[in-house]
Order: sequence, then C-alpha cells, then structure tokens
Amino acid sequence: MSRKLLITNGTFAVLEDNQSVVNGYMLVEDDQITYIGSARPEGCEDAENVNGEGLLFLPGLINTHGHAAMSLLRGYGDDMVLQKWLQEKMWPMEAKFTGNDVYWGTALSVLEMIKGGTTTFLDMYDHMDQVAQVTEQSGIRGVLMRGAIGLCPPDVQKHKLDEAVAFARNWHGKADGRITTMISPHAPYTCPPDYIEQFVQAAHDLDLPMHTHMSETQAEVEQNVADYGVRPVEHLLKLGMFSRPTLLAHGVHLTDEEIEVLAAHKVGISHNPGSNLKLASGVARVPELLKAGVTVSLGTDGAASNNNLDMFEEVRLAALIHKGVSGDPTAVPALEALRMGTEYGAKSLFLNNTGKLAVGMKADFIALNTEQAHFVPRTDYVSHVVYSAGPKDVEHVWVDGKQIVKHGACLTLDEERIRREAQAAFEGLVSR
Ligand SMILES: [Zn+2]
Repeated sequence: MSRKLLITNGTFAVLEDNQSVVNGYMLVEDDQITYIGSARPEGCEDAENVNGEGLLFLPGLINTHGHAAMSLLRGYGDDMVLQKWLQEKMWPMEAKFTGNDVYWGTALSVLEMIKGGTTTFLDMYDHMDQVAQVTEQSGIRGVLMRGAIGLCPPDVQKHKLDEAVAFARNWHGKADGRITTMISPHAPYTCPPDYIEQFVQAAHDLDLPMHTHMSETQAEVEQNVADYGVRPVEHLLKLGMFSRPTLLAHGVHLTDEEIEVLAAHKVGISHNPGSNLKLASGVARVPELLKAGVTVSLGTDGAASNNNLDMFEEVRLAALIHKGVSGDPTAVPALEALRMGTEYGAKSLFLNNTGKLAVGMKADFIALNTEQAHFVPRTDYVSHVVYSAGPKDVEHVWVDGKQIVKHGACLTLDEERIRREAQAAFEGLVSR
C-alpha cells in the first residue's frame, strides 16, 4: 500500500515555457509526484489531504555550493580580502574544528536551509560523517563530499584522499537514497597537480562526479598562469578532471575560450552571487555561460562569506546583478533565475529526479504563504517569487514525500537545542 498525499486548491509552479503555474491538484504517492492537474485525480479517497488554498507550491530550492559547518563563523571576519580572510580568520579557526563542531554547525545551517525552502544542498567539508548524520536526521537531500586541501606533506595528503574515498563509498545512496557523494579536491590553488590527478582517478574508480572551486578571484587566475603556464580551465582539462561529470564553484573569471571548453565538456557552474559580491571577487559571466549552453546553478557558499543561506536571495541576485553589470534588463529573466535555483540545480548535481514539479519526479517541494501584501495583486507568480518573496514566506516543506517543515516549524530537528549548541561550539573555538 502506497502512502498518498493529495493537495487540493493549490497553485503549482511547473515553470514550463508556455505555462508557469497550474491551478488544481497535486498527488504524491510515497516519494513521488504522480499527478498535477486541474481535475481531481481518481483513486485517492484514502489520501491524506492538504488544503492548498493561499499557498504557492514550488520545487524545493537547490543550493549547489557550500560548507555548512562554516555557519559557526558567521560574522567572524567580514569585509576582508579573500586570501587574507582565509589565511587570518577562517583557516586558523577551521583547523580547530572537531567532529562535534561540524555536527552543530551543519545542523545550524541545515535548519536555516530547510526552514528557508532549500530541499537539496551540496556540502564540501571535513568531518563529513557528521554532515551525513545531520542530513540523515533532518530529512534534507544532500550531495556530500570530503573536500581536501593539498598544501601539506605527502602522508597527510594521502590520509585526506583516503578519507574522501572512504566517505564517498560509504555514504553514496544512503538515507533512502537522499545522500549522494562526489569527489572533491578543494581548488587548483590549494592542490598540487599530481594530487588533483589522484582525485580524478578516484572519481573514475568510484564512477562519481567531481566538484572543486575554480577562478573565484582574478589573483588566483594570475597565480595559476604564473605557476603552471595556463589558466585554470586548461589546467583542470589537462589534469583530466573534465573526463568526469564536473561542477565548478564560482567560475567568476572566464575567457570566451574557457566558456567554450566548459560547454563542450558539459561542465556546470555553481554561481554564488552573494558570496562573490561580499568578497568583491567579481561578477561571473552568467548570461554568456547560459548562452553557451553551460548549466548554471546557484549556491550560497559558506555562511561566513554570505552571511546567510537564503536561496531566495541568490535567485534574486542572479536576476538582478547581471542586469546591472550588462546594462541589459533582459540579461537573466525571472523564470531563468528561478530555474537556476531549482531545475538547473538538480541537473548540475547530476540528480535527474528532483528540481521540478512534474509527474515522476521526487516529491521535494515547498509551499509559500501567498496571503501577504507582497504577493498582491495576483499578476505573475514567477515574478513575485523572484523579485518579492523570501525565506520567511515558507510555510511547509516536503522532501522525498515526507513533510519536514509544517507552518514554519521544523519537524525533524530540535531548533532551540541547535541554536544553543552552535553558540557553545563557537565559544569553544574562540577559547581554544
Ligand atoms: Zn566554497
């Protein structure tokens, strides 16, 4: 017997070219959407009912780049240059992180994300077993990886690579399939070439995709040219990374030729506009990337450089900043920005069954309360979501067919305890 959920009188953002919303009914059976339409579906007398009146249903938002545990460093070192910020503020504190710190920092982030309508997140960090535990307990979908910085002696390098491989193997497909894994050297500027090649080999051996930071700052690109004689895209191409399905974070500084290479190898870009703006890294060439056929999705990056995990904000920034930079108000239209935060997010994480409200997809969806001033008049719901909505509008959240947020409250995590433990973890880090 399958578990059935029938939503009646709802507005469903299907985000098709010719039709952005459908009014009527959505049926969920177990973890899958099995019907969306204006007529009541047959055979659902035994279904649990949710009255969708006053609610706008959207595919859950997908955060394709971040380091969840870094929420413990929110507000600890703002308004600094990237390299100085990393070397003087982030890395010394992160070196002290224990598994317990990562657990509570991740829980803090996951709590913020699911209450804010994010149903899938990517996480690249250390102590990943704890990240996977939070993912399992919270009900969110996670694409997880042990990120490795290779600026260390060979035996430490090997230890990190072994950890990355063991984590990827142990957790891929776990939590009812909500956890998938990737292989992730931290960045070309933090990993020697032969070390990156070892990660590429591991990804081949495990048949997993790859993720890394690339071309976030102009200085990093210039350093790559000085060290290796080529820009980062050619560097990673030569090291074999693009022989695997790959998602790159940032990709702010790209030439036309580099964009062509990314498109030809179907390499995706996780665009992180909030973090890039705050660190003054530059503005990624998103209109050119989209035009070239590159899959561009959205990420917050860690909360220390954002400083929140609000994916509505990233969607809005993606819609706004490229207009401002190009002088072209058609640069990234609202529907395209919303797809970057949903459908393209799933695609860039190599998840083919989420990111869209459609029959056959996983039931990963959210409901916004539209009975508020900023959703009136009822002109264009896509416009309202992109230019007007925010995380506080999230009323309900379902992942894999299970409700994890109800009337704004998280059903799976102890919110009060997480806030308390995260504060204690931060105080412990400062005092050690
Ligand atoms: Zn990052």
